[in-house]
Amino acid sequence: MSHDPFAWLDDELVSLEANHLRRRLSTREGRQRPATIRLDGRPMVNFASNDYLGLAAESLVEAVEKALHQVGWGSGASPLITGRGAVHAELERTLADFEGAEAALLFPTGFAANTGTIPALLDKRDVVYSDAKNHASIIDGCRLSGARIEVYPHRDVDYLRTAIQDGRAFRRRLIVTDGLFSMDGDFAPLAELAELAEQFDAMLMVDEAHATGVFGQRGRGVCEQLGVEDGVHVRVGTLSKALGSIGGFVVGQQCLIDWLANRARSYVFSTALPEATAAAALEALRLIQSEPFRRTELLSRAAQLREDLKRQGWHTGDSVSQIIPVAVGDPARAMELASALKERGLLVPGIRPPSVPPGESLLRISLSYDHTDEMIDRLLQAMAELKVADDAP
Ligand SMILES: *Cc1c(COP(=O)(O)O)cnc(C)c1O
Repeated sequence: MSHDPFAWLDDELVSLEANHLRRRLSTREGRQRPATIRLDGRPMVNFASNDYLGLAAESLVEAVEKALHQVGWGSGASPLITGRGAVHAELERTLADFEGAEAALLFPTGFAANTGTIPALLDKRDVVYSDAKNHASIIDGCRLSGARIEVYPHRDVDYLRTAIQDGRAFRRRLIVTDGLFSMDGDFAPLAELAELAEQFDAMLMVDEAHATGVFGQRGRGVCEQLGVEDGVHVRVGTLSKALGSIGGFVVGQQCLIDWLANRARSYVFSTALPEATAAAALEALRLIQSEPFRRTELLSRAAQLREDLKRQGWHTGDSVSQIIPVAVGDPARAMELASALKERGLLVPGIRPPSVPPGESLLRISLSYDHTDEMIDRLLQAMAELKVADDAP
């Protein structure tokens, strides 16, 4: 055969397969719902959706339809040219008010918010301190910035203190962390991080992707829950998880937002989202404020589920949230457990490297307001059976 430029890819894919790391695309049939799903022809109870409050599946459709009739579809250009419409502007104002911040900026996705924001704040004269379990988009944002990257062990404030003491010679310092970690379901030690930021003249950036709408008295996230909003300088969020729409955002001081609108490349050089997606997010923000029972009921059921799993002998780590990891370790075993659950009609994804560090594969249970007690009981029943099989010699 003639020259095959991708022969190496076949080898790489075979090697992924051999290491139980090859991923395959699934196709969902029918609507996204956070509690039930038909995937690859199989109906299951869904424990894999980030639509934590069940808003995307039902409540937002009408708002989108209405907006479509009023403003149509497609935004035509990047926001600085002609893409930013009145609904975007209203959402930015509403987000800023909701978050108790001066201003907000919409990005195409949460991923883009991180990869755009960090390089706008830092360059090679600066240093960034990043939690070892931060989301991939934070990691990529750090790399793109060209700053010196200091990864500190997960939630290790003492390690960070020593590192940041050594970093005083850098021009600027940024501490960046997930607020609620996306795989472990635990909180960052935000009060301590805010103290360090204050003490060492650093900026503190917190990604609230999984926490917006779920945590805090008013549903603003972990910063609100832990009472540290004033000490956090850059707050990032996504509209695509509990808010059930699409898009990312940053809130903070007006000068920060003005700067990002000038310098965040994923903002400046990417087309604005269709306004109907902003209308969906506006409706979601309204529901988060008028229906707080969604988050309080979700969190109390999650606490119960964590306790019941622990009683069965599973380890759920330091999770304090609707994201419940079940520690497995080996990727092959994680996939076996996931497929045994699938056989029982329960969709719980096995999470492997590179989503988690080697040796830390897990099952990730994502709980939603829409799950019924009966669905959760089915999961517990299955987990109990698998535990017995797991413990057998
Ligand atoms: C999902 C996620 C993102 C990306 O948000 P999208 O809107 O899905 O692009 C960013 N940060 C964290 C911590 C996330 O979990």
